[in-house]
Amino acid sequence: MTKTSTFWLVGVIFGILGLSIFGCVIFGMIAGRRDARYNELIGYKKVTNYKCKNCSQVVAVDTAEAKMKQGDLDGRQFVTVDRDTICGSCKIKQVQKAEKFLKEGKRAFGNKDYETALDRFYSAEALGNDEAVKWRKRTDDILNEMARSLSRADYALILREHFLDKNMDVKVWITGKDNKYLHMKFVLFNDVWVHNFKEGDLVQEIRKLEFDRVYFTDGFGYNTYIYW
Ligand SMILES: [Zn+2]
Repeated sequence: MTKTSTFWLVGVIFGILGLSIFGCVIFGMIAGRRDARYNELIGYKKVTNYKCKNCSQVVAVDTAEAKMKQGDLDGRQFVTVDRDTICGSCKIKQVQKAEKFLKEGKRAFGNKDYETALDRFYSAEALGNDEAVKWRKRTDDILNEMARSLSRADYALILREHFLDKNMDVKVWITGKDNKYLHMKFVLFNDVWVHNFKEGDLVQEIRKLEFDRVYFTDGFGYNTYIYW
């Protein structure tokens, strides 16, 4: 390679390098300036439309000064946002609807149709009826107590099976309001048996089911009961 061609080659390389660096700097500056312009906060008018969520009627409009990044604002001077509200006439309709649900609920409650009553009271409550809250809780309590009462009734069968598995022919039945009295009849019942029963695990299970009393009889005059 001659001296001249080496000189040219080096020249070209430096030329390309120089242009690249120059290009990078220029583009960097442009990008930086564009970034700064994008992020610059610009004032705009924020218009809030309070729209009725039922009938879509705009009830009120509120205008406020606000700032946003120029890039996000994208040339707009106004930005409109919708807010849910409820208009006067829809409010009245809502109150009337809630009262209708409450009335239906009370009727169902009177007919001991607690499932329907609960559903109506929940609907009235969701529409802002305060009286429905009290009724809903009351109905809820009754339904819970009914469920517990049913599980106590089921327990008579479970207990019967339990004793049969142990070769004991113990008759079991339930009485009382809300099935709160548990009765057992077995020919071998006596004070010793009842004493051991009181100390045993079964009694814990029975208490958990909220029975009030457990009656024991041998069918021949031995009668006693336990409670807590
Ligand atoms: Zn409305």
